Amino acid sequence: MRPTISFEVRPKLPPALEPLKKLASNLWFVWNPEAQELWQRIDVDLWRKSRYNPVALLNQVHQERLASLAEDGGFIAQMERAASQLSQYMSTDYCPFLGGRAPENFTVAYFSAEYGMANCLPIYSGGLGMLSGDHLKSASDLNIPLVGVGLAYRQGYFTQYLDHDGWQQEEYAANDFWNMPMKLLHDDQGQEIRISVDIEGRPLIARAWRIDVGRVPLYLLDSGIEENPPDLRDITFQLYGGDTQMRIRQEILLGIGGVRLLDKLGITYSVIHMNEGHSAFAALERIRLLRQKHGLNFDQAREIVRATGCFTTHTPVPAGNDYFDTDLVRRHFQGYVGELGISMPVLLGYGRVHPTDQNEPLCMTVLALRLSAFNNGVSELHGQVSRQMWKDVWPHFPEEDVPIGHITNGVHTSTWINPDIAYLYNRYLGPGWMEDPDSDAVWQGVDQIPDSELWQMHERRRAQMVSEVRQRLVRQFKRRGGSARELAVCAESLRPDRLTIVFARRFATYKRAVLLLYDIDRLAAIVNHPERPVQFIFAGKAHPKDNEGKEFIRRIVNLTHDERFRGKIVFVEDYDMGLARYLVQGADVWLNNPRRPLEACGTSGMKAAANGALNLSVLDGWWAEAFQPGIGWQIGQGEEYEDEGVQNMLEAGALYRLLENDVPSMFYYRDDQGLPREWIKHMKNCLRVVCPAFNSHRMVEDYVEMAYLPGGLRYAQLSRDDFAGARELGGWVSMVMENWSQVQVQDVTSPIQGPLTWGQEVEVRAKVRLGQLTPSDVVCDIYTGQLGPFGLFTDRRTFGMQPESEIEPGLWLFKGSFACDATGRMGLRVRLAPYHAGLGSKYSLGLAAWG
Ligand SMILES: *Cc1c(COP(=O)(O)O)cnc(C)c1O
Repeated sequence: MRPTISFEVRPKLPPALEPLKKLASNLWFVWNPEAQELWQRIDVDLWRKSRYNPVALLNQVHQERLASLAEDGGFIAQMERAASQLSQYMSTDYCPFLGGRAPENFTVAYFSAEYGMANCLPIYSGGLGMLSGDHLKSASDLNIPLVGVGLAYRQGYFTQYLDHDGWQQEEYAANDFWNMPMKLLHDDQGQEIRISVDIEGRPLIARAWRIDVGRVPLYLLDSGIEENPPDLRDITFQLYGGDTQMRIRQEILLGIGGVRLLDKLGITYSVIHMNEGHSAFAALERIRLLRQKHGLNFDQAREIVRATGCFTTHTPVPAGNDYFDTDLVRRHFQGYVGELGISMPVLLGYGRVHPTDQNEPLCMTVLALRLSAFNNGVSELHGQVSRQMWKDVWPHFPEEDVPIGHITNGVHTSTWINPDIAYLYNRYLGPGWMEDPDSDAVWQGVDQIPDSELWQMHERRRAQMVSEVRQRLVRQFKRRGGSARELAVCAESLRPDRLTIVFARRFATYKRAVLLLYDIDRLAAIVNHPERPVQFIFAGKAHPKDNEGKEFIRRIVNLTHDERFRGKIVFVEDYDMGLARYLVQGADVWLNNPRRPLEACGTSGMKAAANGALNLSVLDGWWAEAFQPGIGWQIGQGEEYEDEGVQNMLEAGALYRLLENDVPSMFYYRDDQGLPREWIKHMKNCLRVVCPAFNSHRMVEDYVEMAYLPGGLRYAQLSRDDFAGARELGGWVSMVMENWSQVQVQDVTSPIQGPLTWGQEVEVRAKVRLGQLTPSDVVCDIYTGQLGPFGLFTDRRTFGMQPESEIEPGLWLFKGSFACDATGRMGLRVRLAPYHAGLGSKYSLGLAAWG
């Protein structure tokens, strides 16, 4: 039966506890140990049951408990300390780089389909979400003016539980936004702030929530309102739910709706950062708005958007990118293309590798690549893989020149570090590890930590992880109606003092969760070694549609029932931020064995490393960059194989060898004080090498320096005097596009005779037909490098050439030179590309002529 009226009764906060409201409404508590402890102190059970949600906690805690806390001097003192730390944090405008303060009028709009910021906000599924969350937190700490845009999913991602056979079941709990640290946006008149987008001729209305991530606001659009017809209401129902039609509609709301919301809120920004193709429609909407507001044409508006756009691709597999059939795009963009001032074929062309191929669907990644000048992958290796994947978008350039660079991901250290470890760092490293975590000098301080203290702390963390895992296993088995014997095994499973290896991540098949199961007998010998036993914790969710991933989970769960592994290998359900925190903070070894090069970066290993765990990993993603002897282990040498079976066999073998020898012997070899000195030395080396480089402060600073600031500067130039620069640039681009077919590098000569010697100067001349263009419209380079066995360039460098004289109208002589600084078989070519100071990149028009 439904009630006639529904209402909610909430406890009344005693006046003395008023500061709790402020503390609950900002996610800053996630990375402040004092605030964390405060919530726990109110009601430890409720804190856990609420999924560490302070708003729900305050709404549910008993009135009597609040009354007694109001009388508790110790509690009040801690609350006041936390509250004053928060107001201090909020009021400073100090930016620890950029000379102390970010430039005026420079704001970044950051778009992502998921955000993993706090356990109580399940609007993420995996690495992308964690990364976006950590990005916002670091931007806040660093005082970078940035606003986040995303979607408020009613259901978020699922909770995982397993049935009797170990088969994954998914449970979707509704997110109750009113009980979460977020606020519905209202205007001055108290009306909800709403925007609308067009879905096949029908308006889709969305309201907006605001989450405060420290100093950074995050706006989430929510279509779950009565006024929408039911099918449209569900657009923000599920993260990555539904079919491609649902997906394109979500992305229209995220990209187009997101830009409309910022406009409605009066937020001006100079740079848009799009994460994954999901948000690429934001670039289109920005073009439309610029046209509408400033009377620009499509080309002029596009050049602004492109010159100030930043796009990050996060996946190295084609299937991980969104593709939409032309028909689907036509249906949704029929009216919209007119407002952009282009035709449907032109729009589709922007999203295709081969713009005129009628059969090619629209790829969101291609659309984003074509509409932003700064593009990057998320590790050095992923940058390389991305250039290879998307090289056909730039058919006139060799793969090395494809304008996709890399900025390696990092993690928000203070979010992921255990408070006890934080205490140790405070003591021996000083506050710098939090304020300036990307400083090498700060992390040199780990050498000051006495071995025994570091080790004792780590052993306590492991014990705490084991205890948490046991409790979770007991709850798991109770729910499944497990036998008394099973429950007893759970309660005693794992040993707090044993070498513990954790494999916790999404169960995407490329991550090969079952590689360890390749040879069960060999694994049994490792686990049951008489002097050097090893135990394993597994956790992770498979995508609901990924049966192979679910099969991996089932195989591991079955293994845990085998007598040889009972209580020594465990699978913990429902991997999320809360569980991840326990695991990264207690693991001895963090295991990662993806099929190279399919792990774009990976970040969980960085979280573990910051807590003192050692990584045991394939040289893929970030580990290919970070690894050096003495900080952890590599599985294999970074090989890539055609044959998956062979690869599994060889890499399982390499993994077993490490688990049979190096890893356990180093762990169990103790000196007369009972300390594993060599292991501790590895921990310290790892902290020193990994922490300053693989944290999100360094990452955000890289984005600021490489993309945000240059983009912001270009925006200022192009928008000055009512967009005079943009108008000029737009005209220039159309002129170049129209005339480029006449451009030719006709004749390349160099007085090279016989072998040259190292250091010798080489002069190069080229006759270049420019037609209507002038030398100032182009940049002409000598392109030289070593040649491989097949006569192809294996590396390259470029040296500028200058116009010498006009031989006849439209035909120019260019000259340049360089000194041979490499030896062996070399080659050279001459490359001509359009040039304009307003362009974000000389590759953004995709044009080049080669001699
Ligand atoms: C860090 C984290 C991830 C990403 O880790 P990978 O190394 O990419 O597997 C995924 N899920 C959760 C809950 C995390 O904390």
